[in-house]
Amino acid sequence: MDTGRTGSPPGRRARGPRFVIVGAGMAGVLSAIQLQQSGLTDFTVYEKADRLGGTWRENTYPGVACDVPSHLYSYSFAPNPDWSHVFSPGAEIAAYFEDVARRYGVEKYISYGTEVSRLTFVDGGWDVETATGSRDRADFVIAATGVLHHPAYPDIKGLEDFAGTVFHSARWDHRVPLAGRRLGVIGTGSSAVQIVTAAVETVGELSMFQRTPQWVLGVPNPPIDEDQRQLFRSDPAAMQAVRDELAHTFEANFANAVVDAESPEAKLLEELCVANLEENVADPVLRAKLRPDYRAACKRLIVSPGFYQAIQHPNARLVTDAIDRVEPRGVRTVDGTLHELDALVLATGFRVDQFMRPIEVTGRGGISLEQAWSERPTAYLAVSIPDFPNLFMLNGPNGPVGNFSLIDVAELQFAYVMQLVDRACATGLHLVSASAAATERFESERVEAAKRTVWVTGCRSWYLDDRGVPAAWPWSFDRFRTAMARPNMDDYDVVPA
Ligand code: NAP
Repeated sequence: MDTGRTGSPPGRRARGPRFVIVGAGMAGVLSAIQLQQSGLTDFTVYEKADRLGGTWRENTYPGVACDVPSHLYSYSFAPNPDWSHVFSPGAEIAAYFEDVARRYGVEKYISYGTEVSRLTFVDGGWDVETATGSRDRADFVIAATGVLHHPAYPDIKGLEDFAGTVFHSARWDHRVPLAGRRLGVIGTGSSAVQIVTAAVETVGELSMFQRTPQWVLGVPNPPIDEDQRQLFRSDPAAMQAVRDELAHTFEANFANAVVDAESPEAKLLEELCVANLEENVADPVLRAKLRPDYRAACKRLIVSPGFYQAIQHPNARLVTDAIDRVEPRGVRTVDGTLHELDALVLATGFRVDQFMRPIEVTGRGGISLEQAWSERPTAYLAVSIPDFPNLFMLNGPNGPVGNFSLIDVAELQFAYVMQLVDRACATGLHLVSASAAATERFESERVEAAKRTVWVTGCRSWYLDDRGVPAAWPWSFDRFRTAMARPNMDDYDVVPA
């Protein structure tokens, strides 16, 4: 069989390979476009919701934005001269993905409202079952199911007794009026900070419940004016230069800072965060409450030019006493105070160990994904799992996450996956999956390298697995780029289908 992408003779099989893509978020739309552009048009994208856009469809809270600059957080092949801000709002990003999908003509491949419930490897291919009862069959499955996807709900006594409205930040209830109301926000992560900053002037009173303070980098977010946009429209090279510069800044500075806790970049980040706190929070008592006792970027760094102003707004209160329980009228903290509220937002993050689950995935020899991941999710180079042949993940476990463009990550991964697909199709269909030995070696090197990262310098965060080991890629972005350039086929099991 020939994918049509290699030099091997075409027409060896009556049909080309069939792909199933799970998820129509950023990575699923990317996969659809790239497959189509490669002439591989026998595929379906299954999307459980009724719109594409993934995280940008689901997160609609006030202030939602991407803290990766928009000219970097765009597909490399679909730059957008019209971004409104350096860090554009979430709705604009959602519209961008919809627009790109439309322009590239891939919406027709998306089956909306169709949740994949089961993937079973049988007779050299994948049986696909959906929650609606439909079935499909694929030679290749690309799991583009996202990372920060499954809301984590806190285990707080009495939540169900609250008389007002309570919802997770990723399930914002837009029927709830904010004007003049008393809003509570639990959490101090990126979501909570964006919500507080955006809502503080609208609400009557805002209580932010802080369990752990966060370091905040105060990068400004100016609008991109019409002259600049016009320049980008007429001179794509100028827009590309901006993207290249941003990519360099992220890869050289930020990536080095997080993977080497002792690097000059890590120290600089710390200095910038300390200066932001010192210079922008006037009251020493509040400043002390907001000052973390761990290294900057140990938790995922918050990027916000406005948070310190927002938390000093007369409407805002930073509550640092621990939450005891939720009662019908509000949140009671352990000091006995009842913080009365009309609405309560759980900005409490996501279950980051799920990946393509809850899909029931069964690989070669009947091994289930639950068995393969019984200790924790792992994948060779974040892409492939032993005994799950021709199933590849984008933004799977152990990949680069954090303050990076996950679009760059997914594009590199997709190009790598297509090289595996080419190998699988070069001489009749073959089954390709990472070898157990290569996966074990990768995992032990990864765990060793993780010891040098800033993520293990003494904080709790979603980067850490149940052993306290960062689950993320612990090396430089350059190393990731190099790893993705060309698969080392010695690390793969390749057998005829
Ligand atoms: P998060 O960073 O995981 O933060 C969750 C917050 O909830 C933390 O402050 C945590 O406190 C608190 N929390 C959890 N359970 C609690 C409990 N039982 N009682 C009190 N507090 C509790 O979640 P997130 O803010 O949704 O962000 C998740 C990730 O999404 C980010 O790190 C980022 O990668 C991404 N994101 C990106 C953007 C962007 O601009 N690009 C925006 C939003 C989100 P502790 O710190 O004490 O655990």
